[in-house]
Amino acid sequence: MLIRFFNSLGRKKEVFEPLEKDRVKIYSCGPTVYASPHIGNFRAFIFADLLRRSLEFLGFTVESVMNITDVGHLVSDSDSGEDKLEKGAAREGISPLAIARKYEKEFLDDLEKLNIEKPTYLPRASEHIAEQIELIKKLEKKGFTYETSDGIYFDTSKFENYGALSGQKIEDKEAGARVAVKSEKRNPADFALWKFCVGENENHILCWNFETGKQLSDKNLRSETETRKAKIGFPGWHIECSAMSMKYLGATFDIHTGGVDHIPVHHENEIAQSEAATDQRFVNFWLHNEFLTIDGGKMSKSLGNLFTIEDIKAKGIDPLAFRLFCFGTHYRQKLNFTWEALSSANNRLKRMRNDFAKKIGADTSQIFEITKNKSFETDLGNLARTYKLDFSSAISDDLNTPRALAILEEVLFGEGISQDEQRRLVREFDKVLGLNLDQPVVEEKIEPNQEQQKLLAERAAARAEKDFAKSDEIRAKFAEMGLEIEDAKSGKQIVKKKN
Ligand SMILES: [Zn+2]
Repeated sequence: MLIRFFNSLGRKKEVFEPLEKDRVKIYSCGPTVYASPHIGNFRAFIFADLLRRSLEFLGFTVESVMNITDVGHLVSDSDSGEDKLEKGAAREGISPLAIARKYEKEFLDDLEKLNIEKPTYLPRASEHIAEQIELIKKLEKKGFTYETSDGIYFDTSKFENYGALSGQKIEDKEAGARVAVKSEKRNPADFALWKFCVGENENHILCWNFETGKQLSDKNLRSETETRKAKIGFPGWHIECSAMSMKYLGATFDIHTGGVDHIPVHHENEIAQSEAATDQRFVNFWLHNEFLTIDGGKMSKSLGNLFTIEDIKAKGIDPLAFRLFCFGTHYRQKLNFTWEALSSANNRLKRMRNDFAKKIGADTSQIFEITKNKSFETDLGNLARTYKLDFSSAISDDLNTPRALAILEEVLFGEGISQDEQRRLVREFDKVLGLNLDQPVVEEKIEPNQEQQKLLAERAAARAEKDFAKSDEIRAKFAEMGLEIEDAKSGKQIVKKKN
């Protein structure tokens, strides 16, 4: 089966083949760990996870890298302003690395909640300073860099293909660049490879000696002259992705992912600095996911809508419902988040799990063993095999998850194939979707309010007098409220949300 992905480089669907047979190497831009990650960030990470799982489903071994940015990400793309990590540290009164570890942990916990498989490598930028310096020195030797009073810059005019990914010419960028007037940059698109700990970065805590690669604690910072002499500073944001991707995956690898917002600056710069250094093609396929909007607009701190996975859980919604919500729309389309839409995804997920539970029967462990020992392809009937083929072709067609979900639901709710086949197909498909469909729906217990407690007392009395008509009447009242009463062996009445 041919796999087609939409390649941002060239802006069309292309047949995908990895460089090495059966093995795919993927790099995904990871989080800058300076604040709690929000659901907009997670659309990109869920997409990267879907890509990896899909390729594994299609028979490939996947090697993946996601970087953790814990130094050097400035608040603005024009290489000025504060470092996000240092700003976070000042906000919370702890060191930049302590901030980084705190939010990295939060990020990793959220990955788990969203059933996102951990990438093969999760390198931290601060632990790969030597590789970044080495790459910058290589670029220096080849004449692609120049120095200004505040850092070492990449000269984009020396890289012939600059702008190929975004389709923007350097001249267009120049026309649109208002901020560059004061800068010492030769071209507005030029970007910092290394920033010196001087001027607005004088108090930067994480600084390294460019010549020796050694980290300096701030008390060791010398005079400005000495700082300049040893080029004491920190890496620009873009260079870490080139240094770490090439370290773990080689000079050329198969797929690079990220959000569409990375195309015009970050990814364009990654290509320029990597290809200038190696004279080889950096990445064969660039896959970008579209934005997540909230209530039709932007997400921002000031609007108070930077929702987190914890916010989702606090509303009693399964985080995996957010996964399902993302898959309901193709990754290259904008996705609008509303709480109503998420709650209907949650109901859809519950429906799927309930139905799956019914089809599994009571003893799940036994059935799982049987499934494991069966050769999957050979004993599926014709219709079941068609479903599997349809599902594979949906994901092979640029990861068409809306279609894949429709096929999954047809298998789950439809007729014409045996229950054993249904069960096995759903489990196979769920390896791609990661919705934990074989997890039983957890019924949520409700703490009854005063009025409900009164009704429960009446019902207990009615049951004691064997007045079942009255008992049923009260049960119906709860049903109207969307609640269910379960009679425990102890005689206690437990109230739950109705599924
Ligand atoms: Zn990146």
